[in-house]
Amino acid sequence: MPNSSTDLPIQYIKGVGPQRARLLQALGITTIKDALLYLPCRYEDRSNLTPISALNIGAPGTASGAIVAANIVRQRGRKFSIFEIVLHDGKGYLKVKWFNQPYMQRNFTVGQTVVVSGVVRKNVYDMPPIEMDSPEYEIVSDVEDSLVHTQRVVPVYRLTEGISTKQFRKLMFSIVQEHAPTMQDPVPPEVISRHALPALHECVRELHFPGNAEHIDELNSGRSRFHARLAFDELFLFELGLAVLKKRACREKGISFRSVGKLRNALLELLPFGLTAAQKQVMDEITGDMKAPYAMNRLIQGDVGCGKTVVALAAMLDAVESGYQAALMAPTEILAEQHYITIHRLIEQLGLKVLLLTGGSKKINTEHADIIIGTHALIQEAVKFSKLGLAVIDEQHKFGVMQRASLRKKGVNPDVLVMTATPIPRSLALTLYGDLDCSVINELPPNRKPVETKWLPSSRSAEIFAVLRKEIGKGKQAYVVYPAIEESEKMNLKSALQGKTAFEQKFPDYRIGLLHGRLRTEEREEVMELFKKKEIDILVSTTVIEVGVDVPNATVMLIVHAERFGLSQLHQLRGRVGRGSDSAFCILIAYHPISNDARRRLDIMVQTNDGLRIAEEDLDLRGPGEFLGTRQAGVPDLRNADIVRDAAILDAARQEAFGLVETAPELEEFPFLKEHLDVFWKGRVDLFKTG
Ligand code: ADP
Ligand code: MG
Repeated sequence: MPNSSTDLPIQYIKGVGPQRARLLQALGITTIKDALLYLPCRYEDRSNLTPISALNIGAPGTASGAIVAANIVRQRGRKFSIFEIVLHDGKGYLKVKWFNQPYMQRNFTVGQTVVVSGVVRKNVYDMPPIEMDSPEYEIVSDVEDSLVHTQRVVPVYRLTEGISTKQFRKLMFSIVQEHAPTMQDPVPPEVISRHALPALHECVRELHFPGNAEHIDELNSGRSRFHARLAFDELFLFELGLAVLKKRACREKGISFRSVGKLRNALLELLPFGLTAAQKQVMDEITGDMKAPYAMNRLIQGDVGCGKTVVALAAMLDAVESGYQAALMAPTEILAEQHYITIHRLIEQLGLKVLLLTGGSKKINTEHADIIIGTHALIQEAVKFSKLGLAVIDEQHKFGVMQRASLRKKGVNPDVLVMTATPIPRSLALTLYGDLDCSVINELPPNRKPVETKWLPSSRSAEIFAVLRKEIGKGKQAYVVYPAIEESEKMNLKSALQGKTAFEQKFPDYRIGLLHGRLRTEEREEVMELFKKKEIDILVSTTVIEVGVDVPNATVMLIVHAERFGLSQLHQLRGRVGRGSDSAFCILIAYHPISNDARRRLDIMVQTNDGLRIAEEDLDLRGPGEFLGTRQAGVPDLRNADIVRDAAILDAARQEAFGLVETAPELEEFPFLKEHLDVFWKGRVDLFKTG
């Protein structure tokens, strides 16, 4: 049973039949409420239409008048036509022209009233003395219409073909009049009054049909207090979902790991380095969680190369020491294999068993393993753990919420540790990881120098080869990354296969290896092994090495077609070098045409090695939607809120949400709010099911 009339399907509205309903659905509108929350993309001030006689030549203006003439004019001897109309508003005349659009004729008839917006020009050919060329226009036919479409601030919507602005505006006018007052407000009244938020129905009315033009600039920039209210609602529901999840996790009994420290200390003895202060700090935070009787849900954030793996490994050893298994899930086979090799080498000396499980592995018996490392193969149906106590997810931004949940389900409330190399701005961290506790490794191991970065057009190959020769001459190694494995006619890109041949010809004395996703597992392992053993000087590769690969002796990273890569990917790739105490170099090779955005990305890479700064620029360049989309599958869309613009609102919404859950963990006293939460998160995280 719908709770309020606004939950009814949009077809309930007079004038909306099946066909129009389908058009509206394409805009995401299925219920009346969807329509009420479908906001204009901009507003036009028609509250004070300028009389035609007062229009200023050279300036933009909006005027209205009745059509007194409409003609197609053909210039003799030329393939050229002008359709023109003359508007009259009782006092002045205005000519309006469209060039080479004879079909415009069909849109207008003499007698109609038209509103036009455009730049006013002098008409030098005939009368009247002023004209507009191809203005935005709208035909308003009757008096009732003119109340909706003129003499006020009018909304302009982003629409699909088949429904005009005018039709939609008229529809919205009646929906707002009839249904906005019946909207039920899900946000608790105390919250509303604490933040002095305008009432929901008032927001909706003002956002569609503003009462006056006073705040039109605010409206147009999406910064009105009415926009802020809707953004608050959305962010509140978002954070509330995370808050409920987090609260549940805290109340769920988890494992209390008792015996910790012995194996871990033995591991630390084996390492050729001491831990940084940040690593120690984060290890302490994890130990605290693991000893506590609830399930840990912690995120470790830290820039590439800060040393997250060893911190995770220490936690895994604590779990093993307490009699449990630990699993480590990585997004690519290469990374899983690398983790396996490193961890295996260390752990063997402690007498523990490690198992590698990737897509290729068939037999699945994890019973005798202490530590299980793998790709998403770990969460296959067939994989069973006998006693999973700790699940670690590396490069977590490459996985979705659901995959995290699936791995957790392999144990009975295991502790969960997720790691991400992409430092993200605080506002985003709160949005994406709001259900997790966060630890930050904000320090790199000592003696790391920033990777010296340049970007060069492909024509400057001499410089590029010089750097290669110098470093390889010193016994160092290099990566060369290509965007594709082989050429394709369509793309016209340099490829890894082609690159390998080219480098072999250019540097016959060097040992050149090739790595890409189409090699068989054994081939790939062999190549990585040779590279680690310094038996390959130049590793030609695709982006398969983007995450996790760790060969400190490599000091050169060449990225071919760097103009095609996104910022975070460039940063990750660059992070493959500069992992030891030697100076390292990254050369970004760009091919024409280089767009302005690409140029900006390359410049930023040259300017800074700071992952956080790069993430912020990335966010700025791509916008929150796309930035979020590629980073986390399974979070609800934000339609009205913009986490960059609305960062302060996000903070407030988060505090309210977490505060509310403190007193009402399952929102028992807020059934209506709970229902909203359910709808908001629907199909993504199946956790708010009521009943
Ligand atoms: P990431 O955080 O990007 O996953 P890794 O865990 O792969 O980084 O560590 C990067 C490199 O730094 C590895 O070679 C690792 O052995 C080394 N490393 C980790 N911690 C330290 C430290 N405290 N001092 C010196 N080197 C370290
Ligand atoms: Mg790593």
